[in-house]
Amino acid sequence: MTGETNGGIANYDRLFRNALIFDGSGKEPFLGEVAITGERIAFVGPTGTIAPNTGAAEEDLAGLALAPGFIDSHTHDDRIVLDEPDMLPKISQGVTTVVVGNCGISLVPVVFGDRAPPPPMTLLGDSQAYEFRTFADYASRVNRTRPSVNVAALIGHSALRLATMADIDKRASDSEIAAMCALAEEAMDNGATGMSTGLFYPANAAADIGEVASIAARFAQKGGVYATHMRDEFDDILASIDETLETAAKADIPVVISHHKCAGVNNWGRTRETLPKIEQASDHQPVNLDAYPYSAGSTYLRAELVTDTYPIHIAWSQPHPDMQGRALIDIASEWNVDLLEAARRLQPAGAIYFQMDEADVRRVLASRLTMIGSDGLPHDAHPHPRLWGTFPRVIGHYARDEGLFTIQTAIHKMTGLTARVFRLRGRGEIRAGAFADLVVFDPSRIIDKATYDKPLQYSEGIYSVFVNGVRSYIAGRGVVQRAGRIVGGNSPHDSAA
Ligand SMILES: [Zn+2]
Repeated sequence: MTGETNGGIANYDRLFRNALIFDGSGKEPFLGEVAITGERIAFVGPTGTIAPNTGAAEEDLAGLALAPGFIDSHTHDDRIVLDEPDMLPKISQGVTTVVVGNCGISLVPVVFGDRAPPPPMTLLGDSQAYEFRTFADYASRVNRTRPSVNVAALIGHSALRLATMADIDKRASDSEIAAMCALAEEAMDNGATGMSTGLFYPANAAADIGEVASIAARFAQKGGVYATHMRDEFDDILASIDETLETAAKADIPVVISHHKCAGVNNWGRTRETLPKIEQASDHQPVNLDAYPYSAGSTYLRAELVTDTYPIHIAWSQPHPDMQGRALIDIASEWNVDLLEAARRLQPAGAIYFQMDEADVRRVLASRLTMIGSDGLPHDAHPHPRLWGTFPRVIGHYARDEGLFTIQTAIHKMTGLTARVFRLRGRGEIRAGAFADLVVFDPSRIIDKATYDKPLQYSEGIYSVFVNGVRSYIAGRGVVQRAGRIVGGNSPHDSAA
């Protein structure tokens, strides 16, 4: 029936004409028509295929781009999707799905009660933020809240450890591993997408390959994916890549190396070693990367990361909120102390570290294995601009203006590739039967506006965004409806196409 008139009666809920269609596969765009029925794409074809008046709502895009909604492959949005469900920083960029629970940090399944969450769990909020012992509880809260974007959720190894272990400074015992595997099973049975580690962070660092692989294997049996913020992104990066590949091979699980970088001035240029190594490994086992399009990283303010070899800016500070947005070196000189002492006085705090080389950033972004993930920190008072600017920056700056790759490749890295890696069936592509997660944008105008000085800025060139067939965001008006839910995995909440 698709594409035919039904006695002159509209048989599609919505119809786009004259759309420059990027289908998410990385192929050249083409001018055509896309029809939506309910929450699915019903028809895709070249211009002139669909007869007049077959759509209840018809829209002539006059050559504007229509792409699958962007999938943010790396986020810490676990809590913000509940507390600020409009998700403006994301949907205003064209993002329709966020992958939460990265870097070993997830809301599920740990509860802290009267205790304060230890870092890095503080990235998601204080102890009140943590109220979900089971994934089923979290999933039903997300679905009831109905954020503007879909949520694919990883379960963090630090959260699993804090929920089950007497002493997280040790390797887990066999019975603790068994307890974590039981929690893994509950999560996967109720729609989680996989597991993450943050071996760099104290809550996760005592876990060895055996512990991680035992737990990851349980996720693998249930169809899960494994994402890792590796133990070391500085001098020992190659050893960390070896550890990652060995762990994933042991667990027989597809792995994503999170926010791949070679951090620290003396490691600049070393993506010439890391990328060939990872690309070679990808011939034997499923491995991918995620990356954000900036040469600065951001996490909480950690003494180990304080240095005078690259600039450090303060994203937030509990005792000194007036210092947010300022350079640590200026604060130190104003206080007449050294950098470490200034950092100590500012803590607890968050920081932005200018620890990468631009040439490395470009090489990583351009790798065929790399997906785009913002790693934005939505709770920071003065966040890294990646929170509001990542996706338009990759398309407008790196693809269109710098020619690092084509616009269709940029879009593939944030749609089709990401959906395949995270097994988000029916997402990330424009084809009949897929979910109608769509973004309308102007390829000649799209660009990020958020900067390190002014990070809370809408991007330009994004016009409207659809989630599960519902028009959800209109530029200049904001969020008009919300239709997001838990997606991916064996989600009982989301039947696949
Ligand atoms: Zn991380």
